Amino acid sequence: MKRLVPALICCLLCIQTKAQITPFEASSDKNYTANYAEIIGYYQKLVKPHPQLRLFNYGTTDAGKPLTLIVLSRDRVFDPVLIKKQNKRVLLINNGIHPGEPEGIDATMMLVRDLLQKNQLPKNVVLCFIAVYNIDGCLNRGISRINQNGPRMYGFRGNYKNLDLNRDFIKADSKNALAFEKILNTWQPEVFLDNHTSDGADYQYVMTLIETQKDKQNPILADYTSKILSPELYKRMAKSGYEMTPYVDEKQETPDSGIVSFLETPRFATGYTAQHNIISYITETHMLKAFDKRVYATYDFMVALIDVFERDAKLIGELKHKADEQVKNQTTFALNWQVDWQRYDTLVFKGYEAGHKTSEVSGLPRLFYDRSKPYTKTIRYYDNYIPTLEVNKPVAYVIPQAWSKVIELFKLNNIVMHRLNHDTTLDLQVYYIDDYKTPSRPYEGHYLHSNVKLSATNQRIHYYAGDYVVFTNQALNRYIVETLEPQGVDSFFAWNFFDSVLGEKEGYSDYVYEDVAAEQLKNDPDLRKKLEDEKIKNPDLAKSARAQLNFVYRNSPNFEKTYLRYPVGRLLTDIKLDIQ
Ligand SMILES: [Zn+2]
Repeated sequence: MKRLVPALICCLLCIQTKAQITPFEASSDKNYTANYAEIIGYYQKLVKPHPQLRLFNYGTTDAGKPLTLIVLSRDRVFDPVLIKKQNKRVLLINNGIHPGEPEGIDATMMLVRDLLQKNQLPKNVVLCFIAVYNIDGCLNRGISRINQNGPRMYGFRGNYKNLDLNRDFIKADSKNALAFEKILNTWQPEVFLDNHTSDGADYQYVMTLIETQKDKQNPILADYTSKILSPELYKRMAKSGYEMTPYVDEKQETPDSGIVSFLETPRFATGYTAQHNIISYITETHMLKAFDKRVYATYDFMVALIDVFERDAKLIGELKHKADEQVKNQTTFALNWQVDWQRYDTLVFKGYEAGHKTSEVSGLPRLFYDRSKPYTKTIRYYDNYIPTLEVNKPVAYVIPQAWSKVIELFKLNNIVMHRLNHDTTLDLQVYYIDDYKTPSRPYEGHYLHSNVKLSATNQRIHYYAGDYVVFTNQALNRYIVETLEPQGVDSFFAWNFFDSVLGEKEGYSDYVYEDVAAEQLKNDPDLRKKLEDEKIKNPDLAKSARAQLNFVYRNSPNFEKTYLRYPVGRLLTDIKLDIQ
């Protein structure tokens, strides 16, 4: 769809229009992205003559500045609850999560103005835009993206804490993420878009698209997006002059080897929004195309998305409702996924021929793409994923109030939680962490655990008044299960929320415990037998006095039950609880 040209409206509007040219438009070479002060100043100026536009500030980001949400409402209703009551839908668009990929920032500035001045706001959809998400990075302008073709200067990927905010949605280490989650759970969009710039292979397309991986997406939503919404977006973009291809993640060195659909786990924006049954897209413009083309392509994609959402607003609302109801009753949840290399689709791909030549840096062979040799060929598209791990939900999870960050995030995400009225002893299932892998260096501020092995056991556990009970009959079941099950790829356990249970608190002095252990073995024939059996199975144990002493200790009543015990309990039966 063509950009809405603001020029030929009326004299008065022309004056406004002049005043409201974006810094990108004002630049002679269209190779400039607005800085933070220009972005906020632009919207503050735009809001005055336009009652259908309102700006909201959420929280403070890590740089101490609030996150600005731009809301466009044709009916001038800006109360999110009332908007839902009036059966309107909500679209949320995020910009500048990676401030060095700023097309969305500049395209949104033009689009908001054009929609207002052309009086083309949708009737059924309220539009919410985050002006710039990584404010901290946006303020830190430079030239840090060495491979990118403009703009002249731009923000830095890391935020004030040097976090990549597009890995921060589940762990929420940044105030930016907390503000985003507040926005998402307040406005409750049905559709979400996150605007980016790609790196990787060279090819002919300006615009590529990531949609929520279809096997991971709620099946009701996946059916609609894969059959109707995504094909319609591809069609409209082709018509606008910015034909798209799925995001190019090569199987091997170049796209000729086939491309693989991107799996956005919950640490990513669209992985997190997918847990909320929100239809989600990521645009990835190509880094080597001119900046103005990338901005215009992003603009056109947003226009197309708004148009189709407006057309299908009723249907999308119904599908979201159905998806929420389905998830409330869903019993099995996938915790991890892998590409199915046995199955693939094909797509027609417009690339450039690739080859190797001698590097002038190393004298060794290097890859290059020959832009004088464009091609159109059919390539493989590996877009099927299979779950590698699934879990059955319990009736409820019981979370001790001590784990306050979990409670804080659950509250922020509108998870319904109850609290025990009294100290209560419950028979429930708990996990012991048998094994896990941890890298020796941190990733995004954490030592992310993986390959978690568990054993489940039933125990009677004492909880305190005020501890939390979370029933798994909620539309947000995916968020609940995927964060609380320790084997989830982006679970709270994986992100180190529960690491204190991985350390022992007590111990013993060998020379003292020798006499106590001898007494314990004398008084407990079962323990004696257990030790003898283990010695037969394990010759190293049989040879080590220290290991045998430790074996007795770990199997004695003195040994701490909480060591390696995952603190969130799984209630498997629907017993009556005294809760509020
Ligand atoms: Zn990005």
